[in-house]
Amino acid sequence: MKNEVNRPSVARQRIFEGVPTGPGIAIGTVYRHDSRFNVHVREVRISEHRIKREQSRLAGAALTAIQEIQLLQGEAKKLPEAASEEIGYLLDAYQQMLKGSRLIRGVEKRIATDRINAEAAVLKEINQLEEAFAAMDDSYLSARIDDIREVGNRLVRSLSKGSVAAFASLPRNAVIVSDELSPADTALLDPNQVAGLATMLGGVESHTAIMARSLALPAVVAASDVSYWALNGDTIIVDGGSGRVILNPTAATLKDYRKRRANYLRGRRALDKLRAVPAVTQDGIAISLEANIELPSEIENVLKSGATGVGLLRSEFMFMNRDDLPGEEEQFTALKDVVERMDGRQVTIRTLDVGADKLGDALGIEPGPNPALGLRAIRFSLSHRKILLEQLAAILRAGAYGPVRILLPMVCTVEEVREVRRVLNRLVGRMRRKGVRIADPIPPLGIMIEIPGAALAADALATEADFFAIGTNDLTQYTLAIDRTDETVAYLYNPLHPAVLRLIQFSAEAAAAAGIPVSICGEMAGDERLTPLLIGLGIAELSMAAGSIPHVKKRVRQLNLAAIAGRARRVTTDADPDHLEAFIAEMADA
Ligand code: PEP
Ligand code: MG
Repeated sequence: MKNEVNRPSVARQRIFEGVPTGPGIAIGTVYRHDSRFNVHVREVRISEHRIKREQSRLAGAALTAIQEIQLLQGEAKKLPEAASEEIGYLLDAYQQMLKGSRLIRGVEKRIATDRINAEAAVLKEINQLEEAFAAMDDSYLSARIDDIREVGNRLVRSLSKGSVAAFASLPRNAVIVSDELSPADTALLDPNQVAGLATMLGGVESHTAIMARSLALPAVVAASDVSYWALNGDTIIVDGGSGRVILNPTAATLKDYRKRRANYLRGRRALDKLRAVPAVTQDGIAISLEANIELPSEIENVLKSGATGVGLLRSEFMFMNRDDLPGEEEQFTALKDVVERMDGRQVTIRTLDVGADKLGDALGIEPGPNPALGLRAIRFSLSHRKILLEQLAAILRAGAYGPVRILLPMVCTVEEVREVRRVLNRLVGRMRRKGVRIADPIPPLGIMIEIPGAALAADALATEADFFAIGTNDLTQYTLAIDRTDETVAYLYNPLHPAVLRLIQFSAEAAAAAGIPVSICGEMAGDERLTPLLIGLGIAELSMAAGSIPHVKKRVRQLNLAAIAGRARRVTTDADPDHLEAFIAEMADA
C-alpha cells in the first residue's frame, strides 16, 4: 500500500452523483469506515482552533497503533524462537517510535506550523525523514526508513479509520462513508445512531443498498470518489432520492436541503395515514403488501408500515458477525420472536441463502471458480444437511406461535424441491414422535423463482411447490449476465428488460394455472412506478422494504385493474421497449 498526499485544499463544497437507494435525506457528520486498508490521504488546511484537535487525534492514533503492536507481540511469541526474538526487537522499536519519538514530535509540530490535518502531517514528516535517511552513508541506517514508513502507515490507518471497532463512538447524526459496506458491516449499524450512508462502490440491488432501505436509512451507493474526499467530522448531505451526495455544503445548500428534508418528512407523515386502510384497487381487487426483512430490529417499522405480513425473511442475519453457527435453539428463539411480534400475520422464512456475495467467508465456503454459479443457497443447504435440518426444525417450532411459510432460495430443479419435502416430512415425523410442539398443519413449502431456468420451468415447479416468490434481483442478474454488485455494469442492470418481464409473466401464469400463490419480493416490488405493470400482470402479492409500502399502497388504491391488465400484458410481450416506457410514464402521470 502506498499512501498519497494530494494537493492542498480547504474544505469546499463538493458534489458527487451516485445511485440513489433511498429513502429520504440525511444531513449529518462524516464517519469514515474503511473496509479495506486502502488509505488515500488528502491534505486539508485547518484553522487555528482545530490544531489541538488534530494533535489529540494523533495521540489517539499512536495509542491505537501501540495496542495493535502489543497484540502482534503476543502473536510473535508463538513463532519459533529465532524468529520470535528478531520480530520482538522490531516490534519494540516500533513501539518506541510511537512514544514521543522524533517522528511523533515532528508530526505534532507540523500540524501546528503547516496548519494541516494529522494524516497529511504524518506523511509529510515521513517524506522528510526519508530524504534525510537516504542521504546517510550507512546502508543499515538508511534501511531503517522502511520501519519508519511502516509505523507511519499504521498511524495513517488508524487516523483514517476513525476507530478500530466497527462503528464505535459515532458522532451525532453520523453518515457512514466507505468504499463499500458488507451486509455484515451493515448489520452492526444502529439505525438510531446513523443518519445515512454513502459508499463509493455497490449497485442499487447490492445487499448494502437493500439493507439500507430496510433500515430506512437514506443511502447513495456508487458515488465515486466520495470516500476519497470525505474526512471524519466533515458535514455531509446524502439525498437518497436523487443519488446526490454533497460534502461540506455551503450555507445556502444546507438551507435548501433542510427545507427539502422537511418536505419529505411531511410527505411521509401524510403517507403514514394510509397505514390502516386496505390495499384495494378502484375495482375492488385486494393486493397483499408485505415486508422484506433482513434483521429482527426492523419489525417495529414493519408494523408501522401497515404490512400484512413478512413476505421474505432473509435468515442470514442469524449467521452474521460470528465464527460459529447458530444451532436450532438459537434460531428458534430468534424466529419465534419475529413470529410473535408479527402477531398472527404470516411470516415467510427463507432458508439460508449463502454463497457468492453473501456470507461465503463466514461459513468457510470455498468460492469455487465462479461463486455466483456455485454451491450456494439451497444447493449449499442440501449438501450441508445438519444446517438444513436445524433450520427447518427451528422454523417448524417457530410456526407453533403464528403462521409461517418456508421459502427455498435459488431453486433450479423439481428434484431439489422434492428432496427438501422428503427431509421436511421425515423431520416432522420425528419431532411429532418426540412430542415437540411444531406448526400444525405443516407450513407451505415454496420456492424463489430467481434463476431464469426455474422461471422457464415454472409450470413443472408449480406441481411441486406450494407457492412462488419471484426474486427479481437475482432473476435480472442471471438473465442479463450482470453482476448485481458490480457498479461498472450497473447501467445495464434493468429488471424491465423484456427478457426479465417475460420470465415474470410466464412464472405468474404458471402459478395461476396451478392455483398456487405468487409474489414478487425483489426490489422492483417496492418501486411504485412499476405497481400498475406488476399487478396488471396478475401479481397480487408484493413484498418490499417496509418504507415503500405506503407509496405502493397509494398507487394500488388509484388503479383500476380491469382497465390496465390487458395493456400491461401487451407491453410485456411487445418487442418495443418504448411502448413499455410510455405505459409506465402514462401510469405515473395518471
Ligand atoms: C432476489 O434475488 O430478488 C431476492 C429477493 O433475494 P436476495 O435479494 O436476497 O438475493
Ligand atoms: Mg436472490
